[in-house]
Amino acid sequence: LIQLYMPLNHLGILYREIRQSLTDIERLFGLLVQHREVQDAPDARPLERGPCAVSFEGVGFAYEPKRRILADVGFDIPAGRSLAVVGHSGSGKSTLARLLYRFYDISAGGIRINGSDIRSLTQASLRAAIGIVPQDTVLFNDTIFYNIQYGRPTAARDEVIEAARAAHLHEFIERLPDGYETKVGERGLKLSGGEKQRVAIARALLKNPPILIFDEATSALDSKTEKAIQGELDQVAHGHTTLIIAHRLSTVMNADEILVLDGGRIVERGRHRDLLERGGYYAQMWALQLQEKGIESEAEAVTAA
Ligand code: ADP
Ligand code: MG
Repeated sequence: LIQLYMPLNHLGILYREIRQSLTDIERLFGLLVQHREVQDAPDARPLERGPCAVSFEGVGFAYEPKRRILADVGFDIPAGRSLAVVGHSGSGKSTLARLLYRFYDISAGGIRINGSDIRSLTQASLRAAIGIVPQDTVLFNDTIFYNIQYGRPTAARDEVIEAARAAHLHEFIERLPDGYETKVGERGLKLSGGEKQRVAIARALLKNPPILIFDEATSALDSKTEKAIQGELDQVAHGHTTLIIAHRLSTVMNADEILVLDGGRIVERGRHRDLLERGGYYAQMWALQLQEKGIESEAEAVTAA
């Protein structure tokens, strides 16, 4: 009996492990699993490696048939340039990121990378070309090292540490009981929102894809850390095609173009200075943020602009 029991017990462990990793994957791709209708076209081609120009043309989208979320959204991000999107919560900013990653297919218009409609590309190659620092980062029940290395599983230890340094995470990790081998996640050490966000930043730095999406990537950080990491992100973004979704306007000042989204439509667009001069929606948001938060860094930014 014991001969039978041993392998069965082993199976049980294996089963638990597989189930756990499926849960991780499902959580990471939560949206994906619910939306199996996004599939590769039979003749889908891989996106060629290299710099990527992104364009949205007349994009319309609704999660549910009756409720339109985006209408006629159009923009171009030339390879290596940056576009920032600002707007109130619920205006459709994160939806733009999800559509570029093709979590969902659009209902009108087109999204192209280097001229190819993303629906004609393999999802694997599309997603390999995009790094997202999301609003909420999912951690695996594994070591912090694994969690960072996940950005590029073939990365060497040095590279993982370098990415952790750039994301201002290295010193924090060094102080953990088991350093990089410390288990994190629900069944390990719980990290704060800001720490998780820095893990996501480190992952993206390690992946180093041609397209970067920062979705309120520094929103959970205190303003001092944000300022430090912002410099790092600006440096990383250099030479990458970057979509910056921001709540705090101080993070979008240097973008090549800024879009203001309201109710799923673009209501203003231009560079920071032009938008301030225009005295419209963006200028109003800017004034409000200065007033509300009175954050020193933003005040400094205004006088420096
Ligand atoms: P933002 O990032 O600007 O705050 P989002 O793009 O996340 O806005 O959401 C835009 C709108 O779409 C919101 O009204 C939100 O409630 C709705 N929405 C977001 N995700 C879903 C979903 N999975 N199903 C239905 N509605 C959604
Ligand atoms: Mg959002």
